Amino acid sequence: MEDGPKPGVPDHILARFPAAPRGPWADVPEAQWSDWHWHMQHRVRDLEGLSTVIRVSEDEARAAIASKDVFDIGITPYYAALMDRDDPGCPVRIQATPRMAELTPTPWEMADPLAEERDMPVQGVTHRYPDRVLFYVTQNCAMFCRHCTRKRKVADPSTAANDAQIDEGIAYVARTPQVRDVIVSGGDPLTWSDGRLEHLLERLRAIPHVEILRIGTRTPVTLPQRITTETARMLARFQPLFVNTHFNHPKECTREAFTACARLADAGIPIGNQMVLLKGVNDDPATVLRLNHLLLMMRVKPYYIFQCDLNEGNSHLRTSVDKGLEILEALRGWTSGMAVPYYVIDAPGGGGKVPVLPQYVIAREPGRTIVRNFRGTRHVYTEPEPDKG
Ligand code: SF4
Repeated sequence: MEDGPKPGVPDHILARFPAAPRGPWADVPEAQWSDWHWHMQHRVRDLEGLSTVIRVSEDEARAAIASKDVFDIGITPYYAALMDRDDPGCPVRIQATPRMAELTPTPWEMADPLAEERDMPVQGVTHRYPDRVLFYVTQNCAMFCRHCTRKRKVADPSTAANDAQIDEGIAYVARTPQVRDVIVSGGDPLTWSDGRLEHLLERLRAIPHVEILRIGTRTPVTLPQRITTETARMLARFQPLFVNTHFNHPKECTREAFTACARLADAGIPIGNQMVLLKGVNDDPATVLRLNHLLLMMRVKPYYIFQCDLNEGNSHLRTSVDKGLEILEALRGWTSGMAVPYYVIDAPGGGGKVPVLPQYVIAREPGRTIVRNFRGTRHVYTEPEPDKG
């Protein structure tokens, strides 16, 4: 990628971010490899494509055929080359290749586990919390993640927002003064051209009660070439604007990802990470600790750990809530608070994000609260005297 991190990042930090392998694309000229359009045009879309990158397991091969009408395969060459060729348990591969378990939903799984469609005052705008909305703009993503919560619409072109739907969404935000924060999402809004996204952001930014804009994008992870210097500069015109992304494993923290995040951070755009807790990918404390340290070096704040949603086809990827609590216990106190995100369950049925925490308060008694710290030692906090007056 041209135009890497600015001088000032020491070599020993950069050394932690190796350049991504190129797999079967080793001979592709640099100009094409750096071009996000090339990656979008050459995505792995089927069993034949998978077979050129990995030794496809029998389960993956069957699932690639059987899942055709359920959820598309779509993997950028960049992300595909990160997959281990021989190991179906590779944490990158688990996120990218279909498995037969996806096709046997359990009774408690749902197409729309967060009831996003129910809370839409107008098509494409989910207004659940008092002061913010989710603005769905496209079904397209650089990579179609097997654990996606919006499988019901992601990858399905009929769900893309057309101009009339975008107009209606903007009109809703404009006539709803309590909306001070708009999250532009999908799918992935950065599959749009800069010009198209800029036009949308201009219209949202022109609404006086909108204070904060956010972009939800996984391109720093699955297509870092998408974050060009020009794109970062364009986004920076709409401050205060935040980018939230979705790294799930240290293997995704490549030099290319580092460069993408550096471009955003150098343009003054704060970046947060929303990790999804996934079996076989990141369901152990050491992996999450390492991921969060790498993220901070990329100037990405670990923001959320999401308990995997109850969406259809996710049963093989879900972990217990105990596992999430174990991970949090292993972070809090043992490393900087900067590396400790919120662990949340997005409550099924549209209840919203609910924080889940290990229990640090042992007892509350008149005049004192008894707590334990991360090492388990017990401490007493004496409350202030009640006001006498
Ligand atoms: S990038 Fe996000 S929206 Fe797109 S498939 Fe992955 S999880 Fe779903």
